[in-house]
Amino acid sequence: ATPLSVMVGTGKGAQAGILIRSAEALETAHKLDTIVLDKTGTVTKGEPVLTDVRATDGFNEDDVLAMVAAAEALSEHPLATAIVTGAHDRGLNPPPASGFTSVTGKGIQATIAGRTVHVGTTRLLADAGLDTTELAPIAAGFSAQGKTPVLAAVNGQPAGVLAVADTVKDDSAAAIAALRRLGLNVVIITGDNARTAQVIARHVSVDDVLAEVLPQHKADEIRRLQREGHTVGMVGDGINDAPALAAADVGLAIGTGTDVAIEAADITLISGSLGGVVTAVQLSRATMRNIR
Ligand code: ADP
Ligand code: MG
Repeated sequence: ATPLSVMVGTGKGAQAGILIRSAEALETAHKLDTIVLDKTGTVTKGEPVLTDVRATDGFNEDDVLAMVAAAEALSEHPLATAIVTGAHDRGLNPPPASGFTSVTGKGIQATIAGRTVHVGTTRLLADAGLDTTELAPIAAGFSAQGKTPVLAAVNGQPAGVLAVADTVKDDSAAAIAALRRLGLNVVIITGDNARTAQVIARHVSVDDVLAEVLPQHKADEIRRLQREGHTVGMVGDGINDAPALAAADVGLAIGTGTDVAIEAADITLISGSLGGVVTAVQLSRATMRNIR
Protein backbone atom coordinates (compact mmCIF):
# COMPACT_ATOMS: atom_id res chain seq x y z
CA ALA A 1 0.00 0.00 0.00
CA THR A 2 1.09 3.58 -0.52
CA PRO A 3 2.21 5.56 2.52
CA LEU A 4 -0.86 7.77 2.07
CA SER A 5 -3.38 4.89 2.04
CA VAL A 6 -1.66 3.39 5.10
CA MET A 7 -1.91 6.75 6.86
CA VAL A 8 -5.59 6.99 6.02
CA GLY A 9 -6.22 3.40 7.16
CA THR A 10 -4.29 3.89 10.40
CA GLY A 11 -6.18 7.12 11.07
CA LYS A 12 -9.56 5.49 10.50
CA GLY A 13 -8.50 2.67 12.80
CA ALA A 14 -7.55 5.11 15.57
CA GLN A 15 -10.96 6.76 15.26
CA ALA A 16 -12.59 3.34 15.70
CA GLY A 17 -10.44 2.53 18.74
CA ILE A 18 -8.04 0.26 16.85
CA LEU A 19 -4.36 1.13 17.24
CA ILE A 20 -2.33 -0.25 14.35
CA ARG A 21 1.37 -0.33 15.10
CA SER A 22 2.79 -0.86 11.62
CA ALA A 23 1.99 -0.55 7.91
CA GLU A 24 2.80 -4.24 7.64
CA ALA A 25 0.05 -5.22 10.09
CA LEU A 26 -2.53 -3.16 8.20
CA GLU A 27 -1.39 -4.74 4.92
CA THR A 28 -1.29 -8.33 6.22
CA ALA A 29 -4.71 -8.31 7.92
CA HIS A 30 -6.56 -8.60 4.59
CA LYS A 31 -4.84 -11.94 3.93
CA LEU A 32 -5.95 -13.59 7.19
CA ASP A 33 -8.02 -16.75 6.77
CA THR A 34 -8.00 -17.92 10.40
CA ILE A 35 -8.65 -16.04 13.64
CA VAL A 36 -7.54 -17.73 16.87
CA LEU A 37 -9.26 -16.33 19.97
CA ASP A 38 -8.00 -16.83 23.50
CA LYS A 39 -10.97 -17.78 25.69
CA THR A 40 -10.50 -16.16 29.11
CA GLY A 41 -10.50 -12.36 28.97
CA THR A 42 -10.89 -12.32 25.19
CA VAL A 43 -14.14 -14.16 24.36
CA THR A 44 -15.19 -13.94 28.01
CA LYS A 45 -15.03 -10.96 30.35
CA GLY A 46 -12.13 -12.47 32.29
CA GLU A 47 -13.80 -11.66 35.60
CA PRO A 48 -14.43 -15.11 37.04
CA VAL A 49 -16.68 -15.55 40.06
CA LEU A 50 -16.74 -18.43 42.58
CA THR A 51 -20.10 -20.19 42.12
CA ASP A 52 -19.90 -23.58 43.90
CA VAL A 53 -18.04 -25.39 46.65
CA ARG A 54 -18.32 -29.16 47.04
CA ALA A 55 -16.52 -31.20 49.74
CA THR A 56 -15.93 -34.94 49.88
CA ASP A 57 -16.96 -37.02 52.93
CA GLY A 58 -14.75 -36.13 55.87
CA PHE A 59 -14.29 -32.55 54.74
CA ASN A 60 -16.38 -29.46 55.38
CA GLU A 61 -17.12 -27.03 52.53
CA ASP A 62 -16.04 -23.93 54.46
CA ASP A 63 -12.79 -25.61 55.55
CA VAL A 64 -11.99 -26.65 51.98
CA LEU A 65 -12.75 -23.16 50.67
CA ALA A 66 -10.69 -21.52 53.43
CA MET A 67 -7.69 -23.75 52.72
CA VAL A 68 -7.91 -23.27 48.95
CA ALA A 69 -8.30 -19.50 49.40
CA ALA A 70 -5.28 -19.47 51.72
CA ALA A 71 -3.18 -21.03 48.96
CA GLU A 72 -4.71 -18.87 46.20
CA ALA A 73 -3.96 -15.70 48.19
CA LEU A 74 -0.36 -16.21 47.01
CA SER A 75 -1.32 -16.66 43.33
CA GLU A 76 -1.93 -13.90 40.78
CA HIS A 77 -4.14 -16.00 38.50
CA PRO A 78 -7.62 -14.57 37.77
CA LEU A 79 -9.12 -17.79 39.21
CA ALA A 80 -7.20 -17.15 42.42
CA THR A 81 -8.72 -13.68 42.77
CA ALA A 82 -12.22 -15.15 42.28
CA ILE A 83 -11.63 -17.78 44.97
CA VAL A 84 -10.12 -15.37 47.52
CA THR A 85 -13.01 -12.92 46.99
CA GLY A 86 -15.53 -15.77 47.23
CA ALA A 87 -14.06 -16.89 50.57
CA HIS A 88 -14.21 -13.34 51.97
CA ASP A 89 -17.80 -12.93 50.75
CA ARG A 90 -18.70 -16.07 52.72
CA GLY A 91 -17.13 -14.55 55.86
CA LEU A 92 -14.14 -16.90 55.92
CA ASN A 93 -10.69 -15.90 57.12
CA PRO A 94 -8.11 -17.96 55.26
CA PRO A 95 -5.13 -18.96 57.44
CA PRO A 96 -1.60 -18.00 56.36
CA ALA A 97 0.08 -20.24 53.79
CA SER A 98 3.74 -21.01 53.14
CA GLY A 99 5.82 -23.07 50.73
CA PHE A 100 3.90 -21.81 47.72
CA THR A 101 4.69 -23.19 44.28
CA SER A 102 2.77 -22.67 41.05
CA VAL A 103 2.65 -24.97 38.04
CA THR A 104 1.88 -22.83 34.99
CA GLY A 105 -1.43 -23.73 33.32
CA LYS A 106 -2.25 -26.35 35.95
CA GLY A 107 -2.49 -24.90 39.44
CA ILE A 108 -0.67 -24.43 42.72
CA GLN A 109 0.61 -26.14 45.85
CA ALA A 110 1.11 -24.70 49.35
CA THR A 111 1.45 -25.63 53.01
CA ILE A 112 -1.37 -24.50 55.30
CA ALA A 113 -1.33 -25.23 59.05
CA GLY A 114 1.21 -28.00 58.40
CA ARG A 115 -0.93 -29.60 55.70
CA THR A 116 0.02 -29.87 52.02
CA VAL A 117 -2.70 -28.52 49.74
CA HIS A 118 -2.86 -29.13 45.97
CA VAL A 119 -5.23 -26.89 44.00
CA GLY A 120 -5.88 -26.96 40.26
CA THR A 121 -6.73 -29.16 37.31
CA THR A 122 -7.26 -32.92 37.26
CA ARG A 123 -3.88 -33.05 35.58
CA LEU A 124 -2.17 -31.19 38.43
CA LEU A 125 -3.44 -33.76 40.95
CA ALA A 126 -2.67 -36.70 38.66
CA ASP A 127 0.87 -35.39 38.03
CA ALA A 128 1.35 -35.33 41.82
CA GLY A 129 0.37 -39.02 41.90
CA LEU A 130 -2.98 -38.33 43.60
CA ASP A 131 -6.19 -40.30 43.04
CA THR A 132 -8.80 -38.18 41.21
CA THR A 133 -11.56 -40.79 40.80
CA GLU A 134 -13.76 -39.22 43.49
CA LEU A 135 -13.30 -35.62 42.30
CA ALA A 136 -13.39 -36.16 38.52
CA PRO A 137 -17.19 -36.66 38.22
CA ILE A 138 -17.88 -33.53 40.31
CA ALA A 139 -15.47 -31.60 38.11
CA ALA A 140 -17.13 -32.98 34.96
CA GLY A 141 -20.53 -31.78 36.22
CA PHE A 142 -19.20 -28.22 36.60
CA SER A 143 -17.50 -28.32 33.20
CA ALA A 144 -20.77 -29.38 31.58
CA GLN A 145 -22.21 -26.07 32.86
CA GLY A 146 -19.32 -24.14 31.28
CA LYS A 147 -17.73 -23.53 34.69
CA THR A 148 -14.03 -24.11 35.41
CA PRO A 149 -13.57 -26.77 38.09
CA VAL A 150 -10.80 -26.28 40.65
CA LEU A 151 -9.88 -29.53 42.38
CA ALA A 152 -8.42 -29.62 45.88
CA ALA A 153 -6.47 -32.28 47.79
CA VAL A 154 -5.29 -32.01 51.40
CA ASN A 155 -2.33 -34.14 52.45
CA GLY A 156 -2.90 -36.13 49.27
CA GLN A 157 -6.56 -36.85 50.09
CA PRO A 158 -9.29 -35.67 47.68
CA ALA A 159 -11.00 -32.84 49.60
CA GLY A 160 -13.35 -31.10 47.21
CA VAL A 161 -14.01 -29.22 44.02
CA LEU A 162 -14.79 -25.50 43.58
CA ALA A 163 -16.40 -24.04 40.47
CA VAL A 164 -15.55 -20.67 38.97
CA ALA A 165 -17.59 -19.13 36.17
CA ASP A 166 -16.79 -16.39 33.71
CA THR A 167 -19.36 -14.77 31.40
CA VAL A 168 -19.12 -14.31 27.65
CA LYS A 169 -18.77 -10.64 26.58
CA ASP A 170 -22.06 -9.24 25.28
CA ASP A 171 -20.85 -8.76 21.72
CA SER A 172 -18.57 -11.81 21.31
CA ALA A 173 -21.16 -13.96 19.51
CA ALA A 174 -22.10 -11.18 17.06
CA ALA A 175 -18.45 -10.39 16.29
CA ILE A 176 -17.64 -14.07 15.70
CA ALA A 177 -20.62 -14.38 13.34
CA ALA A 178 -19.37 -11.29 11.46
CA LEU A 179 -15.86 -12.77 11.17
CA ARG A 180 -17.37 -15.88 9.67
CA ARG A 181 -19.36 -13.80 7.16
CA LEU A 182 -16.02 -12.28 6.12
CA GLY A 183 -14.94 -15.85 5.26
CA LEU A 184 -12.65 -16.42 8.24
CA ASN A 185 -12.24 -19.66 10.23
CA VAL A 186 -12.60 -19.00 13.95
CA VAL A 187 -10.77 -21.10 16.55
CA ILE A 188 -10.84 -20.79 20.37
CA ILE A 189 -7.63 -21.61 22.28
CA THR A 190 -7.37 -22.02 26.05
CA GLY A 191 -5.53 -23.61 28.92
CA ASP A 192 -8.88 -24.48 30.44
CA ASN A 193 -10.25 -28.03 30.26
CA ALA A 194 -11.88 -29.28 27.04
CA ARG A 195 -15.42 -29.68 28.35
CA THR A 196 -15.64 -26.18 29.84
CA ALA A 197 -14.07 -24.71 26.70
CA GLN A 198 -16.57 -26.52 24.45
CA VAL A 199 -19.57 -25.20 26.40
CA ILE A 200 -18.28 -21.61 26.10
CA ALA A 201 -17.46 -22.20 22.42
CA ARG A 202 -20.99 -23.47 21.77
CA HIS A 203 -22.41 -20.26 23.31
CA VAL A 204 -20.64 -18.27 20.60
CA SER A 205 -21.14 -20.88 17.84
CA VAL A 206 -17.48 -21.90 17.46
CA ASP A 207 -16.80 -25.58 16.63
CA ASP A 208 -13.05 -25.49 16.55
CA VAL A 209 -11.57 -25.60 20.07
CA LEU A 210 -7.96 -26.11 21.16
CA ALA A 211 -8.20 -26.80 24.92
CA GLU A 212 -5.76 -27.72 27.69
CA VAL A 213 -3.02 -25.91 25.79
CA LEU A 214 -0.23 -25.00 28.18
CA PRO A 215 0.87 -21.34 27.96
CA GLN A 216 4.22 -22.26 26.39
CA HIS A 217 2.39 -24.25 23.66
CA LYS A 218 -0.06 -21.59 22.44
CA ALA A 219 2.55 -20.22 20.01
CA ASP A 220 3.25 -23.78 18.77
CA GLU A 221 -0.42 -24.11 17.80
CA ILE A 222 -0.22 -20.85 15.82
CA ARG A 223 2.90 -22.10 14.00
CA ARG A 224 1.20 -25.45 13.28
CA LEU A 225 -1.74 -23.63 11.62
CA GLN A 226 0.76 -21.56 9.59
CA ARG A 227 2.57 -24.72 8.47
CA GLU A 228 -0.81 -26.05 7.31
CA GLY A 229 -0.94 -23.02 5.00
CA HIS A 230 -3.10 -20.64 7.03
CA THR A 231 -2.53 -16.94 7.56
CA VAL A 232 -3.36 -16.51 11.22
CA GLY A 233 -4.59 -13.65 13.37
CA MET A 234 -4.31 -14.23 17.11
CA VAL A 235 -6.41 -12.29 19.62
CA GLY A 236 -5.43 -12.38 23.30
CA ASP A 237 -5.17 -10.45 26.54
CA GLY A 238 -2.86 -12.36 28.86
CA ILE A 239 0.86 -12.72 29.57
CA ASN A 240 0.24 -16.31 28.45
CA ASP A 241 -0.82 -15.11 25.03
CA ALA A 242 2.22 -12.91 24.29
CA PRO A 243 4.33 -15.54 22.46
CA ALA A 244 1.30 -16.57 20.35
CA LEU A 245 0.53 -12.91 19.55
CA ALA A 246 4.12 -12.48 18.38
CA ALA A 247 4.08 -15.73 16.35
CA ALA A 248 0.84 -14.90 14.52
CA ASP A 249 0.81 -13.12 11.14
CA VAL A 250 -1.16 -10.42 12.91
CA GLY A 251 -1.37 -10.25 16.72
CA LEU A 252 -4.33 -8.35 18.16
CA ALA A 253 -4.31 -7.47 21.87
CA ILE A 254 -7.33 -6.69 23.99
CA GLY A 255 -6.70 -3.12 25.23
CA THR A 256 -8.01 -3.91 28.69
CA GLY A 257 -5.54 -6.83 28.94
CA THR A 258 -1.98 -7.02 30.18
CA ASP A 259 0.81 -4.69 28.99
CA VAL A 260 2.86 -7.73 27.97
CA ALA A 261 0.17 -8.80 25.50
CA ILE A 262 -0.19 -5.26 24.12
CA GLU A 263 3.57 -4.98 23.59
CA ALA A 264 3.69 -8.33 21.76
CA ALA A 265 0.81 -7.44 19.43
CA ASP A 266 0.64 -5.52 16.13
CA ILE A 267 -2.81 -4.10 16.79
CA THR A 268 -4.53 -3.05 20.04
CA LEU A 269 -8.31 -3.11 20.35
CA ILE A 270 -8.84 -0.32 22.87
CA SER A 271 -12.39 -1.19 23.95
CA GLY A 272 -11.57 -4.89 24.31
CA SER A 273 -14.54 -5.85 22.15
CA LEU A 274 -14.09 -8.54 19.47
CA GLY A 275 -15.95 -6.20 17.13
CA GLY A 276 -12.56 -4.51 16.75
CA VAL A 277 -11.20 -7.61 14.99
CA VAL A 278 -13.97 -7.34 12.40
CA THR A 279 -13.24 -3.62 11.88
CA ALA A 280 -9.48 -4.25 11.57
CA VAL A 281 -9.97 -6.87 8.85
CA GLN A 282 -12.46 -4.66 6.97
CA LEU A 283 -10.11 -1.68 7.22
CA SER A 284 -7.21 -3.72 5.83
CA ARG A 285 -9.33 -5.01 2.96
CA ALA A 286 -10.48 -1.46 2.12
CA THR A 287 -6.91 -0.12 2.31
CA MET A 288 -5.57 -2.80 -0.01
CA ARG A 289 -8.49 -2.37 -2.45
CA ASN A 290 -7.78 1.37 -2.73
CA ILE A 291 -4.26 0.87 -3.96
CA ARG A 292 -4.98 -1.73 -6.61
P1 ADP B 1 -6.29 -19.65 30.24
O1 ADP B 1 -5.63 -20.07 28.95
O2 ADP B 1 -7.76 -19.98 30.23
O3 ADP B 1 -6.04 -18.19 30.56
P2 ADP B 1 -4.23 -20.81 32.10
O4 ADP B 1 -3.30 -21.37 31.09
O5 ADP B 1 -3.77 -19.63 32.87
O6 ADP B 1 -5.71 -20.54 31.46
O7 ADP B 1 -4.62 -21.97 33.14
C1 ADP B 1 -5.15 -23.18 32.67
C2 ADP B 1 -5.90 -23.88 33.77
O8 ADP B 1 -5.00 -24.20 34.86
C3 ADP B 1 -7.00 -23.05 34.41
O9 ADP B 1 -8.21 -23.11 33.68
C4 ADP B 1 -7.11 -23.73 35.77
O10 ADP B 1 -7.92 -24.88 35.66
C5 ADP B 1 -5.68 -24.14 36.10
N1 ADP B 1 -5.02 -23.15 36.96
C6 ADP B 1 -4.02 -22.30 36.64
N2 ADP B 1 -3.65 -21.53 37.68
C7 ADP B 1 -4.46 -21.87 38.72
C8 ADP B 1 -4.61 -21.43 40.06
N3 ADP B 1 -3.86 -20.47 40.60
N4 ADP B 1 -5.56 -22.03 40.82
C9 ADP B 1 -6.32 -23.00 40.32
N5 ADP B 1 -6.25 -23.45 39.06
C10 ADP B 1 -5.33 -22.91 38.26
MG1 MG C 1 -6.79 -14.76 28.53
